[in-house]
Amino acid sequence: MILLLALGASCGDDDAAPCPPPDNEGSCTRAADCAEGEVCGSDGDALACRGATGAPSGAACTAATDCATGLCLVSGRCTEPCGDETDCGAGERCAAHWTLRSATTVTTCAPKASLPALAAAALDPASAVSLPAAPADAHQILVPVCADPPPPLRLIGGSPLYDVTALGPSTPAPVAAFYVPYPAALTVVLPGGPAYTDWDREHTVVFESPARFERWVFAAGSGARLDVDLFLVGVDEPVAATFDPLRAALAAAGLELGELRFRPVTGAPAERLAVLDGDRGRLPELAELHGLGAGLPPGLPVFLVRHVDYYLGLTGGVPIPLAMPGAPGAGVVVGADDAGDALGLVLAHEVGHALGLFHPTESDGSTREPLPDTPRCTDDADGDGTFAPDECTGAGAENLMFWSLERATPALSANQGAVVRTAPILR
Ligand SMILES: [Zn+2]
Repeated sequence: MILLLALGASCGDDDAAPCPPPDNEGSCTRAADCAEGEVCGSDGDALACRGATGAPSGAACTAATDCATGLCLVSGRCTEPCGDETDCGAGERCAAHWTLRSATTVTTCAPKASLPALAAAALDPASAVSLPAAPADAHQILVPVCADPPPPLRLIGGSPLYDVTALGPSTPAPVAAFYVPYPAALTVVLPGGPAYTDWDREHTVVFESPARFERWVFAAGSGARLDVDLFLVGVDEPVAATFDPLRAALAAAGLELGELRFRPVTGAPAERLAVLDGDRGRLPELAELHGLGAGLPPGLPVFLVRHVDYYLGLTGGVPIPLAMPGAPGAGVVVGADDAGDALGLVLAHEVGHALGLFHPTESDGSTREPLPDTPRCTDDADGDGTFAPDECTGAGAENLMFWSLERATPALSANQGAVVRTAPILR
């Protein structure tokens, strides 16, 4: 049993929807603006009413012309434009998405989750909210919130394995300042690992400012294969050996790499998102990049770009919102040019974070890793304040999740493997 809590997106105290969608350009905004037998769609330009020839919203597509609306999400799913969530189906969100052939994002419907939820509920805005107890078969609880920056929060419960307040530089800390330099998607695992069996399934989320959010509960994953959707954003397909470290790390956890689905991204979104420039420590386009995953089947979204400021690779949380592709924070990002020959190892390390693993030892010798069997480095031999790989040989430097990958291998401890095996997206 594991409880994952992801806190993401708050857009004002009075909004019924977590994040209001932007307006569409054109003579229609939604299907209801058009006559019977017509759809609101696009042939690459502004939206207009047109005859409905092609696949309906939700069908698979490989080209814009496959869809009646002319709108095929980058993830390969036909979609339709919307003005707000009431234009979409149950369990869908109305948000800005990139579609094939479009020169800008279009506000369209996409599923909020890739897996059926045991429960989903909007929670009233408050500064402290008790989450209803997780069902006995619950595995992952996600609470997306909308704010930029996300409100500082604390999570209170029995025996928390990963304490949100321990993640930032101050207490209580906005997790965003540490792991998520963009709006939304704060994540935490409660508890994870076989050492924690006695835990309270009721928790309280404390926001330091009012926020509106939802609660999603997902059932436990019971599979042994991890499917990966690899978005090639302005980069070529990597050589096959690139995925060897990921295969080895998953094998160390008793899992295997399932389908590897390459999804080339070209045109306007590639021009916009292939290089992620930083702005005062943040990456403004990061949530938009994660949005390319909207509509994906269950799996891990990975975005391979040319360059990311500040990072070789990064995840939208530890873990990411695993069953909510397209949500801010839902994905692994790696800069191919920056990672160079280490691309495979960087990818495997970031996937470890995405599935709930922290660094057993940080560069300053501190740790946020509560698992009892991960190797810890405690000897800063030269006293310079950095626990360097050569000082930590045999004491964690070889672990996949060590803060530096200089001596890292795809090795994981038994408890790390147990955390990874709980991911709800495994099949
Ligand atoms: Zn890391």
